[in-house]
Amino acid sequence: MLFQEVVGQEDVKSRLVRMVKDNRVSHSLLFTGPEGNGKLAMAIAFAQYLNCLNPTENDSCGTCSSCKKFAKLVHPDLHFVFPVIKSNSASNPVSDTFISEWRALVNETPYFSLTKWLSQIRKEGDNKQGAIFTSESSEIIKKLSLKTFEGKHKIMIIWMPEKMNEATSNKLLKILEEPSQSTVFILVSNKPDEMISTILSRTQQLKIPALSQSEIQGYLQDKYQISEDEAEGAAKVANGNLVYGEEQVLMSEENQFFFDKFIQMMRHSYGRKVGDLLTWVEEMSRQPRELQRNFLNYAINMIRENYIMNFKQPDIVYLTPQQMEWSKKFSPFINDKNALTIADDFALADSHIGQNGNSKVVLFDLGLKLIISIKEGN
Ligand SMILES: [Zn+2]
Repeated sequence: MLFQEVVGQEDVKSRLVRMVKDNRVSHSLLFTGPEGNGKLAMAIAFAQYLNCLNPTENDSCGTCSSCKKFAKLVHPDLHFVFPVIKSNSASNPVSDTFISEWRALVNETPYFSLTKWLSQIRKEGDNKQGAIFTSESSEIIKKLSLKTFEGKHKIMIIWMPEKMNEATSNKLLKILEEPSQSTVFILVSNKPDEMISTILSRTQQLKIPALSQSEIQGYLQDKYQISEDEAEGAAKVANGNLVYGEEQVLMSEENQFFFDKFIQMMRHSYGRKVGDLLTWVEEMSRQPRELQRNFLNYAINMIRENYIMNFKQPDIVYLTPQQMEWSKKFSPFINDKNALTIADDFALADSHIGQNGNSKVVLFDLGLKLIISIKEGN
């Protein structure tokens, strides 16, 4: 990964390049900042730059033998640690157990959430949490005791160190306390406050800001060849999180369906058209249960944003231009008198459907409550 392939964050790139030029690279770095800002991509690009045999003024060359191996994430001095899942076949799993799945995902895109990563390695129907288990620490020690194969630096990128338990953290601390000259640890954390403080104090923290709306918009427009308006809408909703922005684009078809359904539901309820509401319920209850639940959560979000719209502070409203246009008229109906009740009713319906309640009954009941709540608000 080259620095130029990392979205935006030009200041951070310059700082990292400067660090190398000034020979001030710490042996344990900690990249933090809000989710979806490209921390992992930045860590990999930095690792490549550190080992590039022929770096240019502000990036890796991309063509030397080291860069070629980094591009495929197979350089022998590049090591990864990340949360994994216990299973029957892997009761003491370590990151390397899943390294091929990891490389496949990172090569596809280094912008992803923990949920996305775990879904790649989780067996169907499995609900286990991801963690960095104690067995990982001996693996780290083993890798560090190997002498550097060919690179200038041995790199250990630890993604989500907050997912280590205390025993693992304490072992890692010992390793960080006795750094070897050629090793660079790059910890990449969403929640540094969940790490043990002794590790925190051993690392040099680099706070990477959220991406700007225009950085995300430009990226989405280039990658998905969508219109400026659509990219702008998705980038605004993304609120600095590139992963979320991509989801907006990819889910836009589903979102459009939800938006249409939401408008219909609100119209029928406001107009007290019980017959239309019943037709709506029958259609919705034929959808897969998971989709019904996604719709209910979409609706909760719309209720929330419409309520916030009444405060006339567009900066804190996260709606696409299309949603915003419609909400200008709808938002006055969602106010102090009913916003909480409506949101609670939707959440309750979601929970009932999650517990296998009869969708038709649950959704019709929700529609009737909505008729009352909307009336109460006006
Ligand atoms: Zn190179």
